[in-house]
Amino acid sequence: MKKIAILGSTGSIGTQTLEIVRAQKDLQVTALCAGRNVTLLERQIREFHPKLAVLWEEAAASDLRERVADLDVKVLSGMEGLLEAAVQTETELLVTAIVGMLGIRPTLAAIEAGKTIALANKETLVTAGHLIMPLAKERHVPILPVDSEHSAIFQSLKGEEGNRIHKILLTASGGPFRGYSRERLADVRVEDALKHPNWTMGRKITIDSATLVNKGLEVMEARWLFDVDLSRIQVVVHPQSVIHSMVEYEDGGIIAQLGTPDMRLPIQYALYYPSRRFLPGKRLDFFELGTLTFEKPDTDTFQGLALAYRAMEAGGNLPTVYNAANERAVALFLERRIHFPEIAGIIQGAMEQAVFRKDPGLEEILLTEQETYQWIESRW
Ligand code: NDP
Repeated sequence: MKKIAILGSTGSIGTQTLEIVRAQKDLQVTALCAGRNVTLLERQIREFHPKLAVLWEEAAASDLRERVADLDVKVLSGMEGLLEAAVQTETELLVTAIVGMLGIRPTLAAIEAGKTIALANKETLVTAGHLIMPLAKERHVPILPVDSEHSAIFQSLKGEEGNRIHKILLTASGGPFRGYSRERLADVRVEDALKHPNWTMGRKITIDSATLVNKGLEVMEARWLFDVDLSRIQVVVHPQSVIHSMVEYEDGGIIAQLGTPDMRLPIQYALYYPSRRFLPGKRLDFFELGTLTFEKPDTDTFQGLALAYRAMEAGGNLPTVYNAANERAVALFLERRIHFPEIAGIIQGAMEQAVFRKDPGLEEILLTEQETYQWIESRW
């Protein structure tokens, strides 16, 4: 029995992780954590019997405590709860599937405690990769990527130890607005942006895919996970989302990982790494597929991607500013308070006014997040 804890169990990645737990019979859930979805978390507790459950909001946690009073489960709230879930003695692997920078502290704590990390929460690496990766190396803790592109790169690196990466080819579907001009983007609606052509995901990441900010975050994530220079990470738009990413080696050879767009594959790969297990579902049929196409990303129209390279090149706390500004801008767009192109505008504005901090520690990262939020709140 492998013992796993999940941060964000009620979300898109969290529920798919539990689908795998349900199908395979040798994973045991030690802790489940969510924000405030009491109903679903209660159902999950009754099905998977964790020792610990956490809801961010104390009021929701207190409601949950009453609902599961008949069970042997401890219910906590807030960061205290997330930290306890991250370091529980019996846990072997922590799936980080919450959204945002909230994941940094539990991830660091889990690494300190020697837990293997199955990392979906890309914002943690984007903002604190310079703290997380060296600590993981020092503690010999594997960071296994759950993001499909990074899992593809990770898989393409197997058997190539000692060979230098010449280039990472990070594929992108291009999102629902691929091919749109700036003028056309000005009027897109929330409903249109939430319709991803290939993947079903949480709301925030779906908007991030439409702006290409998600790809920007993934470039930063890849830079930390695989320790490559930014100049060696190239984004390739591949609308069919069949090639999940590729690695080019020095001899020009390219290794890719392909599959249907199904997040359960990278999640399961991380849960059982290095073993592969049967996974039911649709398989790739090349005759049905016919053609695979590739394009250059349009960074003039989708400035979120260009800004990500700029943030990463500047380094320090600028990736945090980029991430925090995007988080708030996406929320404003979902509340219909700004137009779609303003998301990139807000990120750019936030980056231009930010106080630069070269080598930020955790406190400075969190301070930068607050400063960015305040700057946005004072204007929108
Ligand atoms: P969702 O929005 O679907 O789920 C978010 C989860 O986090 C929910 O369980 C939510 O609980 C929980 N949560 C939110 N706020 C808190 C909080 N304050 N404390 C504790 N838990 C909280 O997100 P996704 O599953 O789509 O994404 C999760 C992460 O994985 C993101 O970083 C995303 O970028 C990354 N990712 C996602 C992919 C996907 O296919 N969805 C692909 C690759 C990466 P509640 O339901 O109660 O609000």
